[in-house]
Amino acid sequence: YYDVLIAGAGHAGAQAAIQLRQMNFAGTVGMLGDEAEPPYERPPLSKEYLAGDKPFERILIRPHGFWAERSIDLMLNSRVKKVEPEARLVTLGDESEIGYGKLIWATGGTPRLLSCPGGDASGIHYVRRREDVDGIMARLPDVDHVVVIGGGYIGLEAAAVLTKLGKRVTLLEALDRVLARVAGEDLSRFYEGEHRAHGVDLRTSTMVESIACTDGRATGVNLQDGTQIGADMVIVGIGIVPETGPLIAAGASGGNGVDVDAFCRTSLPDIYAVGDCAAHANSFAGGAQIRLESVQNANDQAKVAVQHILGQESPYAAVPWFWSNQYDLKLQTVGLSSGYDASILRGDPATRSFSVLYLKSGKLIALDCVNMVKDYVQGRAHILSGALLDQGQLADATVPLKEVGL
Ligand code: FAD
Repeated sequence: YYDVLIAGAGHAGAQAAIQLRQMNFAGTVGMLGDEAEPPYERPPLSKEYLAGDKPFERILIRPHGFWAERSIDLMLNSRVKKVEPEARLVTLGDESEIGYGKLIWATGGTPRLLSCPGGDASGIHYVRRREDVDGIMARLPDVDHVVVIGGGYIGLEAAAVLTKLGKRVTLLEALDRVLARVAGEDLSRFYEGEHRAHGVDLRTSTMVESIACTDGRATGVNLQDGTQIGADMVIVGIGIVPETGPLIAAGASGGNGVDVDAFCRTSLPDIYAVGDCAAHANSFAGGAQIRLESVQNANDQAKVAVQHILGQESPYAAVPWFWSNQYDLKLQTVGLSSGYDASILRGDPATRSFSVLYLKSGKLIALDCVNMVKDYVQGRAHILSGALLDQGQLADATVPLKEVGL
């Protein structure tokens, strides 16, 4: 039995445990993770860790000894398969049972699998866990040509790293531009140009028909237009499916994620959900019920849940932010651009330092800043204030964003 039991030892779970002790919670805390490692940072998996620039020890969220020092019982290789809300009990894969006072569900998501013929061949890799990336790295010495399926952040970051490592990379995106779900066209076209300039064979509006296999091993990708592309390795980054099975089976409300309220409470008694798996009404998305897949959201929701458990009611209202590193380009985004009705290009992409601003009804709702920290920092205040802004000044990169008014 634990006073607070955390299911999932990733970003959100780790932050919840840290927060409990930071707020001097004196009860017992247990954290269950189904991976073999203590909590580690996931973003470097498609960046510095894949590149070999950072060893695993340097991406741990806390040093090894931290958890025991804080009396946090970290139970690894432990997967929750069943939750009984009335009995306040979870069951693990080995049938052992653990009781709880409060349960924090922080299980993230698993990669969406390729569903086409051959999609289950060996030699197809995903990028979610350390073991996934170790599997890629172990094969790299024998790999010349990599086909990356999916032009989202993870696919693009992997393509950038592999290109730098001297691999030939082909990137396939089904939609007519990369980053289509998260960014405006200016940003998509800029990144497409960058990848092509670095030698990536980047193809948009390109549908995968099947994976070519020999003896159950992927040897290439067949496209719907009949093109066949040989590949020594296939990497797939086409999104995640939130890990919510046991909670939904226990009767929690949810669909794409577990529904939570402003305090990260699920519809089940004494069960909270935080991070990638939690669907919440986000004021920066006009109140729409969404899941956010970001370190910011994982950390901030964990804090909100813990505060609520400890009797402090502060609803989730954090400004979303995110980053992505590709080549020498540092992208920082703040706010959510969904539903924008106008976008403004600020600065010249040819200088590789610029921002894209997203507006709705004359108000700034999001920024994508490429090698442009100043705009990122100063734009944030405008998103929070919700003030109407002069669009001519916003477009003029010589006017600092903090000086832009109506
Ligand atoms: P996770 O960190 O996924 O943790 C969930 C943990 O729960 C996992 O260890 C999982 O194995 C475990 N688990 C699942 N089911 C169970 C169960 N039933 N019982 C026990 N344990 C279970 N975000 C950014 O903000 N910036 C970036 O640049 C960025 N880059 C990324 C690059 C990659 C390659 C990936 C994969 C993600 C990236 N993200 C980035 C997203 C970010 O890592 C996630 O949003 C974040 O990890 C979410 O935290 P979480 O705790 O909700 O889930």
